[in-house]
Amino acid sequence: MLDFTIEPEFQAKLDWAAGFVRKEVEPLDLLFPHGGDPYDTGNEKARAILRPLQQQVRAQGLWACHLGPELGGPGYGQVKLAYLNEILGRSYWAPTVFGTAAPDTGNAEILAMFGTEEQKSRYLQPLLDGEIVSTFSMTEPQAGADPKEFVCRAWRDGDEWVIDGEKWFSSNARYASFLIVMAVTDPDAPPHARMSMLIVPAETPGIEIKRNVGTMDERDALDEGIHGYIRYHQVRVPLDAMLGAPGEGFKVAQARLGGGRVHHAMRTVGKCTRAFDMMCERAISRRTQGTLLADKQAVQQFIADSWIELQQYRLLVLNTAWIIDTQPHGAARTQIAMCKVAMAKVLHDIIQRALHLHGSLGTTNELPLAKWWMAAPNLALADGPTEVHRTTVAKQMLKKYRPAEGLFPSEHIPPKLEDARKRYAHIINDDSLSGGVNA
Ligand SMILES: Cc1cc2nc3c(=O)[nH]c(=O)nc-3n(C[C@H](O)[C@H](O)[C@H](O)COP(=O)(O)OP(=O)(O)OC[C@H]3O[C@@H](n4cnc5c(N)ncnc54)[C@H](O)[C@@H]3O)c2cc1C
Repeated sequence: MLDFTIEPEFQAKLDWAAGFVRKEVEPLDLLFPHGGDPYDTGNEKARAILRPLQQQVRAQGLWACHLGPELGGPGYGQVKLAYLNEILGRSYWAPTVFGTAAPDTGNAEILAMFGTEEQKSRYLQPLLDGEIVSTFSMTEPQAGADPKEFVCRAWRDGDEWVIDGEKWFSSNARYASFLIVMAVTDPDAPPHARMSMLIVPAETPGIEIKRNVGTMDERDALDEGIHGYIRYHQVRVPLDAMLGAPGEGFKVAQARLGGGRVHHAMRTVGKCTRAFDMMCERAISRRTQGTLLADKQAVQQFIADSWIELQQYRLLVLNTAWIIDTQPHGAARTQIAMCKVAMAKVLHDIIQRALHLHGSLGTTNELPLAKWWMAAPNLALADGPTEVHRTTVAKQMLKKYRPAEGLFPSEHIPPKLEDARKRYAHIINDDSLSGGVNA
């Protein structure tokens, strides 16, 4: 049975997190506002503020809540994580303070699932401890949504793998200690068995970051963004650098993307809620033509639509989390795709209305709304474009149906009426009863 009650002990933790994020973490968003700042382990001032905050989170038992106890997390499950992530979604820095920042979360998951003991101790433990950051290097300049088009190669040469090719939008590569690179290792194999994952330490010779590409919400100057356009020039790693078995690249990639998508969805609820709060405050604070904005029907429509869309989305996300917690692995696939499809639109629409109600001020860098608005298109692309996930939803839903048996649909009224007449013939043919029946 679905139950939306939150246990009092966990509610107390959420209350602590809400106050902590507002008071201690949101100031970091203002002091270190650039896209890469939470990942820049070289900024000593930011780290000096960050580390004690992370200690407080650990002391509350809220560090790395996406992980089970075997990996040092509390193992609360996805529903509780959803409630927590709603709070963390209000702040850009909060996921880093709470040890749940992407893409490190996904990379940690695949290291835990597919890594050898040596790989885990070298890469996973410092990642979980928040000491280093990492990169997932999959998308290529000529192909993103369809990995079957990837051409970056890796081949065996003695006791090494040699990687050669380009990758695009490898987030945080400039700060990463290691990169997980997807490369074609067997071009003649069937498409889903052609690729493998390789763990590449950042200091390995031959890695050239051609540019650090910035999205529109990041810095203006070219080469000052955080998404690495990388050329791997015959980069050599030992054979044991492979994550998973040869040909398992697709499988490993899929394992990390589901969790990442639903965590983004949970945080999106938080960001939308913050924008909604701003919208309502504005509506009851600003006057025009003798009344408050809140008294205008158009503004009331903004508020009602935003709240309804937000609550619909929140229920979808919570239901998805509940399916992940209660049903076998993979059961939430369609739900996760639904969260992914709806995410960018709900974020865009609510922030757009909040921004619009703030008038010219809404468009400026003196409020967070314009920056959030500019990040909305990212959510429609990162972890795969909306269309691809929409296709997943449709295909999964269509699997549940069978073609109509005859020429007409199974809901065609004439044969159903005939059946109904036969079923109740003893009554409708009883002339001792009054009343009419559909002829
Ligand atoms: C903020 C951000 C962070 C990212 N971080 C990473 C990262 O860390 N590592 C990494 O490897 N990648 C990363 N990416 C890349 C991301 O995974 C790709 O952008 C995504 O997979 C789409 O690939 P593409 O950009 O090449 O677009 P394309 O594949 O060229 O798609 C462009 C458009 O074509 C249409 N389209 C594509 N396929 C279909 C289809 N099957 N049906 C209908 N229409 C379709 C859609 O409209 C789509 O938006 C990131 C992207 C963003 C925006």
